[in-house]
Amino acid sequence: MIGAGILKGMAVTLRNFAGSYFEKDRLITVQYPEERSPLPENYRNFPILIYDTEDAEAGLRCVACKICEKECPPQCIYIVKSEDKKPDYMGKPQFYPKIFDIDISVCMSCQICVEVCPFEAIKMDKVFELSKRERFDALLQRKNDLAKSNSYYHEIHPVEAAEVDTKLAEAAAKKKPGPAPAAAGPKPAPQPSNTG
Ligand code: SF4
Ligand code: SF4
Repeated sequence: MIGAGILKGMAVTLRNFAGSYFEKDRLITVQYPEERSPLPENYRNFPILIYDTEDAEAGLRCVACKICEKECPPQCIYIVKSEDKKPDYMGKPQFYPKIFDIDISVCMSCQICVEVCPFEAIKMDKVFELSKRERFDALLQRKNDLAKSNSYYHEIHPVEAAEVDTKLAEAAAKKKPGPAPAAAGPKPAPQPSNTG
């Protein structure tokens, strides 16, 4: 029949229009910023630096190895390594970043920095409301802006953060010295036989 396709299309439109008043799944308009859609676990925006314990400076996992700086495609990471060392999460003395900046006006959210980091130190945030009125330095994120606690990481990526914790705990357990072998004592005296 001529026009059947148009009628069919209009029926779909009508069904969705009417359904949008009654069915929750069809209520697709979100009244942002008063309402916000929940973001999926793997949503990502810009990188952050993770720290353990309560101290953002002492607990920072980053050891300033600069791998992420080298691998970042648009070269928007800038790191200056410390001259002294501080203990890492396993108590091993490590360098730390004296300066760690990311220019998020250049960052393309590719996550390569996260993938190449051998220390689980850099992860992707979910915050997207970072626009600024000023054009230049306002989008330069300094070490203090980038530092986020491991609890925050658990809030935004619970599954991934739990996997990372397990991995780090296993690595720490492997590095710990095992229990000392038991000292060789005197051999027990042979027991008399009861067969007689
Ligand atoms: S997400 Fe990509 S572009 Fe952004 S800092 Fe990391 S490597 Fe660079
Ligand atoms: S974030 Fe990771 S890869 Fe980048 S400097 Fe720190 S430890 Fe190295």
